[in-house]
Amino acid sequence: MIALALQPTVSSAPSDDLTGVVSASRLNCFHSCRMKFFFRYVLGLVKPATAALFVGKAVHAALQQWSTARWRGQPHDAEALKAGFLMNWVTGQEEEPVAWDADEDAQQEKAWGLVDMYLRDTPIPAVEKPEAVEVRVEADLAKHGLPSLVGIIDLVRPGGRIVDFKTSAATPNAEQVIHRNETQLTAYGLLYREATGKKESGFELHHLVKTKVPKLVVSEAPAITEVQRTKLFRLIESYVDGVEREDYVPSPGLQCASCEFFNECWKGGGA
Ligand code: SF4
Repeated sequence: MIALALQPTVSSAPSDDLTGVVSASRLNCFHSCRMKFFFRYVLGLVKPATAALFVGKAVHAALQQWSTARWRGQPHDAEALKAGFLMNWVTGQEEEPVAWDADEDAQQEKAWGLVDMYLRDTPIPAVEKPEAVEVRVEADLAKHGLPSLVGIIDLVRPGGRIVDFKTSAATPNAEQVIHRNETQLTAYGLLYREATGKKESGFELHHLVKTKVPKLVVSEAPAITEVQRTKLFRLIESYVDGVEREDYVPSPGLQCASCEFFNECWKGGGA
């Protein structure tokens, strides 16, 4: 049993770092609610992971192990992956406390059920060797007057097809899913081009959906366009401008329901 940290811990996050390097997750956080960004990245408040977040990380780690094993030519069937999954489940909680708001054993079963389903239903052939797995890439955007862009790409299939794994409670909306993930996909496209000197051939979002019977939804998108690249640069400019002005206004709305800083925000008069 892991003891819960009832009070948030604080880590230092000097604002210089915030304007020197950006990532898609920082941009998305800032542009969804600047006050949430302030709590997470400026004050550095750290909350225990939710069960849903921990399940997502455990599934992600298992899929990373699956991709790495294929890349190395090692066994990568369900039996080979299960031991690593169970070990990560324990060590993950040693590194990061989890606020279990549901039965842990049931959550572990649900997480492995998602992995097992993915191994059965994935469109990626078992014999396919990845071009890259869980690779950290950085792009220097100084010539555009912007900070460096960093990101970690889950998987690159042969031919430069970028894959991102996601777990979700609900089936993603087919009309909105690419738009909602556009900042991340555009950032990954730029990073891939920076790292390889080649253009990506497209993107796949693999959503592992936590329905009663787990299912996989694959959404595809073409290579990024010049318009998308320009939009990303404008988002970064707006981010840098806001951080330099310390403009951390709250954006009360639907996102507050799942915000880990609701209490701090509400008590502080932010929302
Ligand atoms: S509770 Fe809402 S307004 Fe406040 S920080 Fe969270 S998302 Fe922003």
